[in-house]
Amino acid sequence: MVNHHLTKSRYMAGIQCLRRLWILVHEPRDYDEPPACSPLNVGQEIGQRAHLLFPGGVLVVEEPWLHAAAVARTAALMRDPNVRAVFEAAFAVGNVRVRVDVLERRLSGWGLLEVKSSTRVKDHYLDDLALQVHVITGAGVPLQAVEMLHVNTGYMRGPGEIDWPAFFARVDVADDIASRRNEVSERLPALHDCLEMGSLPHAEPGRHCGNPYDCEFWDQCTADKPTDWISYLPRLTAARASDLKALGIMAISAIPMDFPLTSKQTVIRDATLSGQPFIAPDLPRLLHGFGPPACYLDFEAMMPPIPLYDGTKPYQILPFQWSLHVMTSDGSLTHQGFLARADEDPRRTFAETLISALADSDVPIIVYSSYEQTRLKELAGQFPDLGPALRAIIDRLVDLLPVVRGAVYFPEFAFSNSIKSVAPALCRGFSYDDLEDIADGSAAAGAFAQIASGRISDPSEVVRLRSALLAYCERDTMAMVVVHRALMRLTRDVSPDRQIECDRF
Ligand code: SF4
Repeated sequence: MVNHHLTKSRYMAGIQCLRRLWILVHEPRDYDEPPACSPLNVGQEIGQRAHLLFPGGVLVVEEPWLHAAAVARTAALMRDPNVRAVFEAAFAVGNVRVRVDVLERRLSGWGLLEVKSSTRVKDHYLDDLALQVHVITGAGVPLQAVEMLHVNTGYMRGPGEIDWPAFFARVDVADDIASRRNEVSERLPALHDCLEMGSLPHAEPGRHCGNPYDCEFWDQCTADKPTDWISYLPRLTAARASDLKALGIMAISAIPMDFPLTSKQTVIRDATLSGQPFIAPDLPRLLHGFGPPACYLDFEAMMPPIPLYDGTKPYQILPFQWSLHVMTSDGSLTHQGFLARADEDPRRTFAETLISALADSDVPIIVYSSYEQTRLKELAGQFPDLGPALRAIIDRLVDLLPVVRGAVYFPEFAFSNSIKSVAPALCRGFSYDDLEDIADGSAAAGAFAQIASGRISDPSEVVRLRSALLAYCERDTMAMVVVHRALMRLTRDVSPDRQIECDRF
């Protein structure tokens, strides 16, 4: 019989959900290589950069599947007084294996440091650290300190290279860990028992599936749920969900008419049950002031954890792209867009080109959420000389999202007001499906950050990605155009064929 072991990641999976731990161990999958700018890769790079803070440190290079060799190598390095720190130090106690980011030699013992790419100490990091302390002290290592290195949001990049000691914040978490040591001992027996179970343990999917991590097995665990599962109902409280469960109700369409719901939840229940859309009588009033004529505006921005440009901070939001559709009174459309150069801070050019594009008009500027307004306010603060022109743009913004959220619901929205759900639902033929390389905002931010950081330098690949970025952002403003057109039609004609035909995007 295979004797399974626990690791840090398995421990964290297990305290989130035993079923998740079991699947990870017993049904391991091949995972795609993460994109270069994914949180995983960023975390690895920041982890490696943290080594620069410990001169004289040595990396344990043995791979995770050679754990015994890694433990032996760690012990040898710890015996060598010339080694000031051990990176990826390996320990094992009682069938629990850990690798420690940094083990730093102190006067009469060792300090343990965990490196995170986050901007603060998060509660679940302490569980991870408590397990490491449990194993290391169990292995007889005298620990003098337990600390966390995370990204210092107060750091601003100056000319030249990153100042790595200033980039990191070093936080003493020894007291927080002390209070969690007992929890580790209490949890381990159940986790070990789970590892040895012969079949998949049952767990009902719920709020724990996204806390602290989004579980990768969500689709698998919810495959037998109805397509209108009550968990998809927006803002359903735990108490109401529990009441429905007690009544044996799994589907939104089966919720009794006298069950207490919010007005929006009632709209969704009724539309799901009847298959008919909800259109509020005051939709024409809500659309007043949206034109046409009108502009449709969308931004893309990135948040590089490691600052790419002088004068910027870790995770600072840097808008790099805008798309603008303009609809005239007769319904004709024009489009223009901006995509920044990647080798310089994009913000000022972004702002100047946008001001120029909107200068000759005073028609309403339609957005979908408050995101654009927030970015414009930030830019006005960062470039005071552009402030009046940027505030003039802000004054013209009108947000279509609250109109959709409050006045329209189609069963095809699939419980979401996202533009990516609403536009295809309202406009037959509209889709993002043909956008293979970049089809959402995080992919756009990741692609631009990869180009800007030099991780992608092949000119043909850069051209391909820039083309994909332009196509994606243009599609987002086109989505606003089709949603606005569809809403205008709904104010005139609520026919059984409720979708508009969409043949130009
Ligand atoms: S989706 Fe939820 S219930 Fe299923 S394994 Fe993950 S955490 Fe557990």
